[in-house]
Amino acid sequence: MKPRWSIVAVAALVLAVGRTGSAHWEEAYHWAPGEIPMHLQMGGAPGPLVDGNGDWDAITKNALNAWNGVLGGVALVPMPDPNHNAAIQDGANNVVFGDDVYGEPFADGVLAITLTSYTTPDNLIVETDVVFNRKINWNSYRGDLRPAVGGGTLYDMGRVALHEFGHVLGLGHPDDHAQAVPAIMNSHTSNLDVLQKDDVDGVATIYGAPAAPPVTATARLR
Ligand SMILES: [Zn+2]
Repeated sequence: MKPRWSIVAVAALVLAVGRTGSAHWEEAYHWAPGEIPMHLQMGGAPGPLVDGNGDWDAITKNALNAWNGVLGGVALVPMPDPNHNAAIQDGANNVVFGDDVYGEPFADGVLAITLTSYTTPDNLIVETDVVFNRKINWNSYRGDLRPAVGGGTLYDMGRVALHEFGHVLGLGHPDDHAQAVPAIMNSHTSNLDVLQKDDVDGVATIYGAPAAPPVTATARLR
């Protein structure tokens, strides 16, 4: 089986033909059941962020765990890994800042991109890398998008991380497929800052519903 590269946003457009009307969008590829280690390599922020966070890796870790709360069969494992020298197809799922995407320039207006390597014909993902555009004015806050001092938008890392990790799991953009639904997975970042029902339904379609939470000793005693 020869690994094949796909940039998710491009693949989503190619696959658009012949399917409209349903909610969310799943790409053709997915992970086998089990743990998905994610190597977090963005480190500390240059100064205090709006919501008090001071560490990009803490923000991406929170985003991974938000997905874990709704996943069945697979789990994203945050692994802070500041000294890893990320490369394409290096066997690690890298979460990094980049001035470009491993040598390819970011297209205009692109905040971050997820690269997915999967085997054919079984369509199992073997590696994903998430590259955040270093030139973007990043911060961390809740609620509506905020303007940046000096113009443009101040971008919330957390909601963009949620979006990219949805790509890691095999979700595409609902709004690229004639759907108008509230979703973190829509192609443009918005005032939404947490996973929406459509996002959760998307991963449940791929991986199944999460297992019921274990009954705790406390609950049994009541
Ligand atoms: Zn996207």
